[in-house]
Amino acid sequence: MKFCSSCVLPETFPGIEFDKEGVCNYCRHTLVPDKNKKQEYIKKFENLLDDVRGKYDYDVIMAYSGGKDSTYTMYQLADKYNLNILALTFDNGFISKKAMENIVHMSDICGATSLIIRPSFRKMKKIFKIAAVEDLYNTKTLDRASSICTTCIGHVKSLVLKTALEKNIPLAAYGWSPGQAPIASAIMKTSPRLQTFTHKTVRDPILENCRELSTYFLSDDDLKIEKEKWPINIHPLAFMDYDEKEIIKFLKILGWEEPKDTDPNSSNCTLNALANYLHRKKFNFHPYAWEMAGIIRSGSMKREDGLIKTTQEEDLKMVYYAARMIDISID
Ligand SMILES: [Zn+2]
Repeated sequence: MKFCSSCVLPETFPGIEFDKEGVCNYCRHTLVPDKNKKQEYIKKFENLLDDVRGKYDYDVIMAYSGGKDSTYTMYQLADKYNLNILALTFDNGFISKKAMENIVHMSDICGATSLIIRPSFRKMKKIFKIAAVEDLYNTKTLDRASSICTTCIGHVKSLVLKTALEKNIPLAAYGWSPGQAPIASAIMKTSPRLQTFTHKTVRDPILENCRELSTYFLSDDDLKIEKEKWPINIHPLAFMDYDEKEIIKFLKILGWEEPKDTDPNSSNCTLNALANYLHRKKFNFHPYAWEMAGIIRSGSMKREDGLIKTTQEEDLKMVYYAARMIDISID
């Protein structure tokens, strides 16, 4: 398999082309934010926090998975920026036991209110099974994440937004790594218009197959809420210093512990190994390739480390465990 000589995107990645030096078109055309750009965003971010701090029941709702990125983000919001946080965790039935302990421990440390939403496993199992074996989403969506991951993140984003609107919370924070979302979207107002688009690509395919999950999504009526009330999404890791190994080291000092039952690309979810396995088998590239390529371009990870993460075979014990749980067979 041929890989871009600069990032980790493989020749099987949709739309990829290599130049004479073996560098891919995505590397050539992606602008990596420099120090000045980051500084500009930090300033904007701090002004925004000064505007909202202390004016509402909660300053921010955090999409909190218990994984390293969201834990680190939440800690920064609490410790450095002194925000009152509602930490929303979506329990998809596959949160590692260790991650659950981390969620409780770190929410306490951050002075956050922990809100865990767990749909009955029967419902989650049904949609995960469909996401695993059927073509639920358009292939463009699946360039950047597996079908199972897209299903889960769809619930998370929707619940965060829904809760922010219900409780009048002005900010919604995510621990997206610099590879998952570009700096241009690091501070972005949500709106009914943008949400309508998300509904078409993620909510609607889920609900067409599993109507009983509608509780977790915004209804078309919710889209009529006046746009001033919609929160601003923030993902501070886009402009903060990001180094995975340093983050883990830092969190361990605070008492966060790395789960041993998750795959190398997740520090909370025991379903992810199966999600990656199925994606690689179907599309012949790793669902984390896009994200790792972005992190490498941003200078936050060595290419060799990214290559290992996106070429390593999944631990079959983890794959079979998850397959059994959602009742699918692996050949
Ligand atoms: Zn590249």
